Amino acid sequence: MHDHRKLGRELGIFDTDPLIGAGLPYWPPAGAAVRHTLEEYIRDVERRAGYRHVYSPVLGKRELYEISGHWSHYSDDMFPPMRVGDEDLLLRPSLCPHHALIFRSRGRSYRELPLRMAELGGMFRSELSGVLGGLTRVRAIQLNDAHVFCTLDQATAEAGAALALIREAHAALGIRPVRYRLSLQGPGGKYVDKPEMWARATALLREVLDAADVPYEAAEGEAAFYGPKIDVQIADAAGRESTLSTVQIDFHQPEQFDLSYIGADGERHRPVMVHRSIIGSVERAVAHLIEMYGGAFPAWFAPVQLAALPVRDDEEEAAEAFVRLCVARGLRAELLPAGQGSLGARIRAAKLVPYQAVIGPKEAIDGRVALRLRDGRSLDPMPAAEAVDRILALTRAHALELWPAASAADAGHRDH
Ligand SMILES: [Zn+2]
Repeated sequence: MHDHRKLGRELGIFDTDPLIGAGLPYWPPAGAAVRHTLEEYIRDVERRAGYRHVYSPVLGKRELYEISGHWSHYSDDMFPPMRVGDEDLLLRPSLCPHHALIFRSRGRSYRELPLRMAELGGMFRSELSGVLGGLTRVRAIQLNDAHVFCTLDQATAEAGAALALIREAHAALGIRPVRYRLSLQGPGGKYVDKPEMWARATALLREVLDAADVPYEAAEGEAAFYGPKIDVQIADAAGRESTLSTVQIDFHQPEQFDLSYIGADGERHRPVMVHRSIIGSVERAVAHLIEMYGGAFPAWFAPVQLAALPVRDDEEEAAEAFVRLCVARGLRAELLPAGQGSLGARIRAAKLVPYQAVIGPKEAIDGRVALRLRDGRSLDPMPAAEAVDRILALTRAHALELWPAASAADAGHRDH
C-alpha cells in the first residue's frame, strides 16, 4: 500500500497551501474529476434506493447545537462561535440538526415514512494543527450523509438496507473492510445519560448485524454521544484502522427536536432517526482509494480514462479527432502528441491511464484505434466508435476490470 499524502499530491488529486491553512486541502482538476465521479455515483445509488437529496448551510446558530446536544457533549471538536451582531454562529460539526429541522418544517404523516433524506455536505472539526495531514485528518470535511426518519417498526429494516447499500458501494469501489464494529458507549460523561435508550438502540443494531450475517466485534467508548453505531472499518498503509461507513439508530435527536408524525390512528408519534454514511467523508474515501490502488484507479473513476497516442506527427489530427469523440461521448480523454517523446516514453508517462489508444498510419486511414490496456494487454485495432462504446459500457457498469478476459485473450500481442 502507498501513502496517500505523498502519492495524492504527485497525482494532482489534492494539495494544501500554508496560506489556506493546514487541514484545508484543495482539489486540482485530477482530484476534482475523481471526487465528482464518486459523488455522482453515491447520489445515483442513493436515488435508486429511494433517498431524496437536500442542501443545507454549513453554519447554524449556537442554539441549534445546544438543542442537538453537540454543544454540551462535542464542543471540544467544534470551532469557537463567530459573533455576528447579537448572534453566535457555529461551523457545523454534523448535518443531523439541519436535517431534523427540514423534517420538522411541516406536518408529517406516517404515509411519508420512511423518509430518506440525503446530502453530501460540508462539516468542520477543530483538529489541532499538530495532527493534521493529507486527506484523513482535516478541518473541513465533505460528508456523505443521510438520515432516515421512520417508525420504530421500520428502523431495523432501514438500518439493514443501509448496511446493504454500504456493501454494494464497497464492492463497486473495490473496498474490502477489515471488520465490522458495534460501537458502544464507554465510561465518562461524553455520552447522553439515558440507559434505556442505549439498550434499545444497541439491541436493534445487533439484530441488523445478525440479519446481515456479518461477523462483528463490540467496542466500548466508540459510540456517538447520542447513541451506538455500526462502524465499517478499513485499514491504511501502516495498518492503522479507521471508520469509513456507519449506520446508527437514534432515539435521542428526535426527542431533542420534538419530531413527530401523525400515525394511522390520528395521534402524534415520535419517529426514529437512522443515520448512515456509505463512504463516510469524501476525503477519507479518496485517501483510502489512492492507497489501495496506488493511483491505478478503476477506469470508471480514473481522473484520465483514456490517452490517445499518435505514433508520429502525421497521425496527430486523427488522434485529436478521437479525443474529441471520446470527450463528446462523456469519457475523460487526453492527447499525448508525438512531440512529447517516443511512443515508448509516452506509454510509460501514461502508465496509470486505464486505456491508451495508439494510432499509427494504418489506423489513421481506417478510422481505427489499437487499444493498450494499463495491465499490459494489447487489443487488435477496432473502429474508433466501437472502442468508445465498449469503454463506456464498462465505465457505466462501474466495472473493476479493464476489459473482459475472454476478448482480450483473443487479441494476441501487438507491440508498437
Ligand atoms: Zn446524523
